[in-house]
Amino acid sequence: MEMEQLYQRTLQVWGEQAQYDQAAEECAELIAALLHYRRAKVKEEQVIDELADVTLMLGQLSWMFGEHKVAAAVARKRKKLDALLTAAGTADA
Ligand SMILES: [Mg+2]
Repeated sequence: MEMEQLYQRTLQVWGEQAQYDQAAEECAELIAALLHYRRAKVKEEQVIDELADVTLMLGQLSWMFGEHKVAAAVARKRKKLDALLTAAGTADA
């Protein structure tokens, strides 16, 4: 199944609100995994699993809100980050 079909099917089966809830839940699980990883309570694989969950939900939400709009926002923020790094004198010249 292609990703777009997967996102469409997910939306049909569970609905819009459930996607927001699931995204928030997966972000919370990643937050917890990172905090536990810092204290050596979980292994790297658990962080990677949670990153995978969040990555899937970011794909789902980006598709729902408009991938071109998200890509434009990422480009805008990337440009701002580049400018901040240049001002900090740490960017590659
Ligand atoms: Mg998870």
